[in-house]
Amino acid sequence: MDQSLLESLRVIALPTKTNFRGISVREVALFKGEYGWGEFSPFLEYGFQESAPWLMCAIESATTPRPHIYRTSIRINGTIPAMNNPEDIQRIVDSFPGVKTFKVKVGENLPEDIARLARVKSLRPSAKLRIDVNGTWSVQEAVTNLRAIYENIGPLEYVEQPCATVEELRELKEKLKIDIRIAGDEVLRKAVDPFTVDLAGAVDILMLKVQPLGGIERAHRLAEHHKLPVVVSSALESAVGINYGLTLAASFGELDFDCGLGTGSLLAANVAQLPIANGAIELAEIEPTFEGIEVAPDRFEWWKNRIMKTAELIS
Ligand SMILES: [Mg+2]
Repeated sequence: MDQSLLESLRVIALPTKTNFRGISVREVALFKGEYGWGEFSPFLEYGFQESAPWLMCAIESATTPRPHIYRTSIRINGTIPAMNNPEDIQRIVDSFPGVKTFKVKVGENLPEDIARLARVKSLRPSAKLRIDVNGTWSVQEAVTNLRAIYENIGPLEYVEQPCATVEELRELKEKLKIDIRIAGDEVLRKAVDPFTVDLAGAVDILMLKVQPLGGIERAHRLAEHHKLPVVVSSALESAVGINYGLTLAASFGELDFDCGLGTGSLLAANVAQLPIANGAIELAEIEPTFEGIEVAPDRFEWWKNRIMKTAELIS
């Protein structure tokens, strides 16, 4: 990658308001090119290979023109982490003003999952609910648990990645007597090659995350390849990464689902604000500020080294 990108490198640590996938501080690397800032923020445990598409995306964001967009405002879903305290859930729901869809993290404990969904439903009775299981259920668990959720809560908009593999998802769709749409997330972004995965009969909706899928151009090629409707979502990114996700969402002529790009409200600090108003976020020209959130020199060196090692895999 171009040396000038590395020279603009900033690394920041953003505290989260609530523990989210075990994270209380989100470290993010940002660099600037001719066309703006790019975000490189694979989770800390990811190796260089898994981080490679994230870097491709950051470089694309910094060095290529933005695509044609069809809208400047993107409707978003609220994201509810796997939390159980009713007041905590209310606080998170309240941080999504005007939002009409909630994505609720489930999968560890069915009674708690149902209570969490019931709590969200009681706070926003007219909102659509979708759940994300992150692939943790077996086929049989998915059959049992989805039936229980339908009996107790009612229909869901869709269920994201109830089981881990494409084969399991296909089997689940055959066994489940409920008509329910399945969104594929990990089956795509954890695949060695997301273009060679056969999603037929297993997945109805593609979850597109711009960093793990390698950028806007590649995400479009994936959507065209799999010929499925898309939801654009984030990976708990700073405002720079979220804005790039908003740009991806805006660049689809057809966008029928609210997008998972409201995760900025889970962060207690950020490089810029992307406020949620009437359930939507406006695309912005982001000029980040770094005051008080930059990491210590050893963490900066760690990220710089990570970027250089990852870059060797994509050059
Ligand atoms: Mg997911």
